[in-house]
Amino acid sequence: MTHSLTTEPITLTLKTPFKIAHGTSATRHNVIVHLGAALGEAALAPYYGVTAADVIAYIESPQVAAALGDDLMQREDILDRLPAGPSAARAAIDMALHDRAARQMGVPLYRLWGLNPARAPLSSFTIGMEEDEAVLREKIREAAGFPILKLKLGSGSLDADVATVRIAREETDARLCVDANAGWTPQETAKMVERLAPYDLLFIEQPIAQDDLAGWHDLHRLIPGDAPPLIADESVHNSRDIFPLAGAVDGINIKLAKAGGLREAWRMIQVARGFGIKVMLGCMVESAVGVTAAAHLAPLVDYADLDGNLLVADDPFKGARLGRDGRIGLPEGPGLGVTRA
Ligand SMILES: [Mg+2]
Repeated sequence: MTHSLTTEPITLTLKTPFKIAHGTSATRHNVIVHLGAALGEAALAPYYGVTAADVIAYIESPQVAAALGDDLMQREDILDRLPAGPSAARAAIDMALHDRAARQMGVPLYRLWGLNPARAPLSSFTIGMEEDEAVLREKIREAAGFPILKLKLGSGSLDADVATVRIAREETDARLCVDANAGWTPQETAKMVERLAPYDLLFIEQPIAQDDLAGWHDLHRLIPGDAPPLIADESVHNSRDIFPLAGAVDGINIKLAKAGGLREAWRMIQVARGFGIKVMLGCMVESAVGVTAAAHLAPLVDYADLDGNLLVADDPFKGARLGRDGRIGLPEGPGLGVTRA
């Protein structure tokens, strides 16, 4: 029997334009993959340079159809056979294969893996960069209830970055963490660790440039041992990227769209554990399909940042629910448990 994948481009409208150090976006164009009733999502961040057309061309290629073979339960073989291509597209296929397998077994994906959903950490909620102080205060007040807020920094001004954290502290009792999205140098990062010390940050994510491997190792020497954990995001795509950072980073942020899917994300978690590296599970701006797929892995990680679909005004799907208390509710339906909204 031959199997085929079909694609459905979706446009997600952000509730408010989302500004980070890489740029501002008001909409995102992602691609849903269908494998029979099973679903996957390719989440496309504009700063990675992959378009929906690239993803669709890959997924609908004869090479991908051939890679599926005739036994869709043999995920390891299929994923090994997939041709090189955009990691977001491979992630979408991987999600659909996992969704289908767990549906066939009649269990939620997390149960297929033997995971306990009560072990999932609370998720943070992300606040994009905001130049207007009144608007920033309003956004932080709107996020009231979330126990952990992730503030996007890397605005280009260290003073403005510190002010963002100070303002957040004035408006909320939530635990704060920051993501500079590669906006600082190692020396600036060391200064910021000092300046932000009064705010007892949960972690500092990707302070320095993506490919600054030496910078990560310098940082390890530049900052004191009691600094908040430093977590690599843009610097780590898959399990092969972890070894060069061992001993320099305290944690990694895993995203399915970067890793190429759930199988590689699982492998990254295990490799990181082997190095004593903490694990965060993040997401792009994506619908409930991609966020829910990631959420099924949440019981295995230390930090979760799975608010991607809460930032979206018109999610066509529903699945994992992120409560205002930061708790991740996994759907109980078979597979990913995602349905049309
Ligand atoms: Mg990040």
